[in-house]
Amino acid sequence: MDRLIVGDCLWRQVVRVLEEERPAPAAAQPLFAVFRESVDSGVFVGLATAHDIMRHPDWIFADLTGHRELLSVAPDSSARRALKMMDQHGLDALPVLEQQLFVGVVTRQSILGMLLQREHLLLMESRELKKMLDVKHQQIFSWSEKLAGSHEASRSLLRVLAHTSVQNDLLQTGIEALSKLLEARYGAIGILDESGALKHFVYTGVSPEQVQSIGPVPQGKGLLGVVIQENVSLRLDDMTKDPLSVGFPLHHPPMKTLLAVPISHHGRVYGRIYLCDKEDGEPFNKNDEELVFSFAHSLSLVLDNAREMEEIKQTRQSMDYMAHFDALTGLPNRTLLKDRTEQAISHAQRNGGMVGILFLDLDNFKMVNDTLGHTLGDVLLKKVADRISDCLRDGDTAARLGGDEFIVLLPDISDTQDAAKVAGKILESLMLPLDIDRHEVFVSISIGISIYPDNSKDMDGLLADADSAMYHAKKLGKNNYQFFTPEMNSSAQDYMKLEKHLRRALEQNELELYYQPQVDIETGLIIGVEALIRWFSPELGLVAPADFIPLAEETGLIVPIGDWILKTACTQARFWQQNGLPVRVAVNLSGRQFHRAQNQQQSRHPLLDAVLDALDETGLPPDLLELEITEGILMQHLDTTMEILNTLKNIGVRLSVDDFGTGYSSLSYLKRFPIDTLKIDKSFVNDISTDPSDKAIVAAITVMAQQLKLEVVAEGVETEAQLEFLRELRCHYVQGYYFSKPLPADEVLLLLQQGKYPWQWAGR
Ligand code: C2E
Ligand code: MG
Ligand code: MG
Repeated sequence: MDRLIVGDCLWRQVVRVLEEERPAPAAAQPLFAVFRESVDSGVFVGLATAHDIMRHPDWIFADLTGHRELLSVAPDSSARRALKMMDQHGLDALPVLEQQLFVGVVTRQSILGMLLQREHLLLMESRELKKMLDVKHQQIFSWSEKLAGSHEASRSLLRVLAHTSVQNDLLQTGIEALSKLLEARYGAIGILDESGALKHFVYTGVSPEQVQSIGPVPQGKGLLGVVIQENVSLRLDDMTKDPLSVGFPLHHPPMKTLLAVPISHHGRVYGRIYLCDKEDGEPFNKNDEELVFSFAHSLSLVLDNAREMEEIKQTRQSMDYMAHFDALTGLPNRTLLKDRTEQAISHAQRNGGMVGILFLDLDNFKMVNDTLGHTLGDVLLKKVADRISDCLRDGDTAARLGGDEFIVLLPDISDTQDAAKVAGKILESLMLPLDIDRHEVFVSISIGISIYPDNSKDMDGLLADADSAMYHAKKLGKNNYQFFTPEMNSSAQDYMKLEKHLRRALEQNELELYYQPQVDIETGLIIGVEALIRWFSPELGLVAPADFIPLAEETGLIVPIGDWILKTACTQARFWQQNGLPVRVAVNLSGRQFHRAQNQQQSRHPLLDAVLDALDETGLPPDLLELEITEGILMQHLDTTMEILNTLKNIGVRLSVDDFGTGYSSLSYLKRFPIDTLKIDKSFVNDISTDPSDKAIVAAITVMAQQLKLEVVAEGVETEAQLEFLRELRCHYVQGYYFSKPLPADEVLLLLQQGKYPWQWAGR
């Protein structure tokens, strides 16, 4: 505030009078400015106060002014100076003259009044200032809070930037920070997808349910649409009338003010951000817009970056794809095949496994291609590729080397015949015509097979072997497969032949059950017989079970065959029983029969069904049936195995463990199963008289089995010496050629009738 000067403190109640005038009694206490000649333009001669007038009621003004010195101050003199003069001269008022001209009067009171007024003003001002300061302080405070928020927002933005792809949660953090910063009630970020549709949204201030009901997001209609279409920001102070016209969907929460900013970079729009309704009800201002704009800009950089990375990734992927896959068929190419073959070889090397390579070449492709034209030729190759792939299991690889040459890699086969089976399957699958441009086209293929480690040890060698085998197949009239190793071919052929014949064996009654007696060592009585299957094939002659049971298992034929065995054995035992010769019959079960999957229509496991059916149909008492299972079967699928065994046991069927000692089960383990009999494998019995360790094993098994209350049957007893040892070891039951070979049922009947070893007639 400026220095207080006299000019500012003029006393208002000054009455101008002429010097010859006589003062009239005054109500208030005015001051009289006395002039000579004229009150307006005359010479100022002095001041007279009410007090002067009271002291000299008879004097005229000239008398009152004349007796005192004329003191005055200039208007620009300081009020302090005026007060000082008044003090010095004992005055309460001073005239204010400027170059002899009367300007006014200054009094103690007027100066005081002015001072008070000034003080009041100052007070007001400082109050105002304080208020302002308070506001400023508040502002600073909230800004610092906002800054902290914005710091957070920019941190989340940085986090967004650190990512090369924009994930939802990052966008979510971004919009949340942004709306917090601007105190907006709602906010959303919408990102355009590849096709330019606004599909990707994150919201804040809107509940998930609301998001749900907002439903299909606005498709860039109304004013909001302009933000994206024209890449411009939008600020609206009131859109209560019609939010739809702005571009909001029907179910968006009501709102009034809006700030929408495009997310764009170099003219490319990636989406938009919008914020609605500030908490304080104020519209969004320019600063807000700039802030959101800079956020959007940064976001656009991230999105731009992300898109670029995505493009690079895709290009890289497609380059990678091109480097490893055949463009026409989509099958792996030579490079990828090499990779996988090498892996398969080193795996097989470590595990002592086998790898199969099939070299496939379409027969007469050149002719087909010329007839169809190249385009349809390509279609054909694609379809052939599909057929080949359909014949493979997971883990196998079909590759195309180019032209009409394909390779199949079988990385893990347990038998060379596995490769033959796949080759056979492929040949068979190509027997059906291909639909090429609505024409039926027949193709065939020639296949050469090589096997690691039997043939070459590396991929190039294996390919060359398979290739030359393939040529061999072509020479043999095409549409067939050939192994590189000639012996493999003959065994493959045998295998195929076997399978073909086995399929018919059951229907054509080529199967028969033989029975081998099990004898009590002390009494020579037959305690049971083991049913052993025989296949008399008109084409192949007598086929041993060891040669066709595995094939029957593989092809699933074991299921009908197994059912037939059960029924036949039970019928036979029932017949003997009905003829007064009750003897228990032991039936061998294969793993496949045991672990057949139970389908939903079946209330029982299929094996239980088969056993119960056989017992029901024949009327054989269950305790005359014994089921032989190997240790291997026992150890697989422990839970279901245990369940089945318990059920069988409850039915009353006897259970025995076949070939005991060749597996890994311990006797104590066996205790957990409801087993009745152990059959010591013939390999131990074989050397019992010569190999002390075999003798020890048989002794141990016998002793422990007796402790576990299990019966023990020694298999494969062929000699007197073996028998003696077994007798010594207190093994009570024996089975083997020494007593009898497996015999047809009618011959067994004769033995049963004789009842006791040594029988007079020792069979075939
Ligand atoms: P396995 O169950 O251990 O049957 C005993 C095998 O030893 C029979 O061979 C039998 O003829 C043979 N054998 C008996 N006494 C002697 C002997 O003193 N010396 C020698 N060297 N061998 C003797 P087979 O009949 O050829 O059966 C072989 C295997 O085939 C059986 O072994 C069994 O695992 C399986 N098998 C046989 N018949 C069936 C059947 O009906 N169903 C199922 N699933 N498998 C069967
Ligand atoms: Mg057996
Ligand atoms: Mg056995």
